[in-house]
Amino acid sequence: MEQTKFMLGEEDIPTHWYNIQADLPEPLPPIIHPGRMDPVTPDDLAPIFAMELIKQEVSQERWIEIPEPVRDVYKLWRPTPLYRARRWEQALGTPARIYYKWEGVSPPGSHKPNTAVAQAYYNKMEGQTRITTETGAGQWGSALSFACNLFDMECKVYMVGISYDQKPYRKSMIEAWGATIVRSPSLETSVGKKYLEEVPGHTGSLGLAISEGVEDAVTHEGSKYALGSVLNHVLLHQTVIGQEMKKQFELADDYPDMLIGCIGGGSSMAGFSLPWVTDKIKDGKDLQFICVEPMASPSVTKGLYKFDFGDAAATTPLMKMYTLGHSFIPAPIHAGGLRYHGMAPIICHLNDLGIMETLALHQVPVFDAAVSFAKAEGIIPAPEPSHAIKVAMDEALKCKETGEEKVIAFNLCGHGHFDMAAYDTYFAGDLVNYEYPAEKVAEAQKELPEVPPEYQ
Ligand SMILES: *Cc1c(COP(=O)(O)O)cnc(C)c1O
Repeated sequence: MEQTKFMLGEEDIPTHWYNIQADLPEPLPPIIHPGRMDPVTPDDLAPIFAMELIKQEVSQERWIEIPEPVRDVYKLWRPTPLYRARRWEQALGTPARIYYKWEGVSPPGSHKPNTAVAQAYYNKMEGQTRITTETGAGQWGSALSFACNLFDMECKVYMVGISYDQKPYRKSMIEAWGATIVRSPSLETSVGKKYLEEVPGHTGSLGLAISEGVEDAVTHEGSKYALGSVLNHVLLHQTVIGQEMKKQFELADDYPDMLIGCIGGGSSMAGFSLPWVTDKIKDGKDLQFICVEPMASPSVTKGLYKFDFGDAAATTPLMKMYTLGHSFIPAPIHAGGLRYHGMAPIICHLNDLGIMETLALHQVPVFDAAVSFAKAEGIIPAPEPSHAIKVAMDEALKCKETGEEKVIAFNLCGHGHFDMAAYDTYFAGDLVNYEYPAEKVAEAQKELPEVPPEYQ
């Protein structure tokens, strides 16, 4: 019988996270303090993040042990299955072999709890009682709410206005696990008030919600902030995905030619692909890494590789990344998790070195691919990973023409059960493609900070 699902047991949950920093051909650029314009120190970051996470951010250790209580929580849904998409291959009539790693089986429905659980744990161990955060489409807010509840901590979520209005059930989910959630921009922070006064009913942005979450954390005793993507420690925690997948490909007696994932902040793609990057940089494997971003927020394909703030209010340390400018607010596309002006420094560095590549797509063809996949495989994907599905489909159709039997793997990092309003809009024929906002990006990029040349 032909196998469809490649399953591992609880004993196969990784014992360590994989830190790509130990294996990079060139080190990452430093993180810069925006006032002093020199590299940040752990003390600079201590008011915002748990110390253990700050250490992981700059660690050069290849393997970092996963604490037992974190692995114990992982057992609730890990290891996640690797599927061979046999029915979709048949529907597409392709000789390619298509695999997908299915992260939507976690309780909140995405890859995000892989890091949320770790971050809640370290904050708890260091004596914090409360964590603040932002959420775009709601996946990160629900993941952190879920994790904080397990470690008996309070959680406060600032949700990007447009998603708060479009996805009321993510809010209910966040509340079910006991967190408090507000629409961002809110009246609860000085930065939120400023934006609301300028534009009443402001639909928000991820950068703006980050500003609110950080301000809340530094102004409340016992509180720290948690970020759901972008930073090195977040990407580190996600590497359980790719490590499991390597074992699963051994079970399948196969090896990928290309690994495809969507990128919003870059954490799911990193977790899925970084354990494979060493195969390329050390063992010389001919492995293609394709990141996929939305045309409405094309950080890597259209951004500048420069230092920028992580948030709209220009308060965070400066990271070197492909950026559209911290003041750029992307169009309200349905892949809310991909609406960010910047990108994880690790993903940017690997793109810059030519180890990874990036494509930008419009949302209508992305939904065409999502529906094609859902009809064949049954799973209704979130709009974010549907960007990867579209590229997998295009590659599979190319193989149909050339007869090549390529092995295509993509990261199905979340389900679309809270995105059915977006599907409704698509089925009604009302979904629109947003052109790349060249003028607005050029405007925002004028506001990039100038970092001394020795750190560039
Ligand atoms: C948050 C999220 C994203 C975008 O964030 P990354 O850090 O790029 O992974 C993509 N897909 C899903 C399902 C998400 O929840």
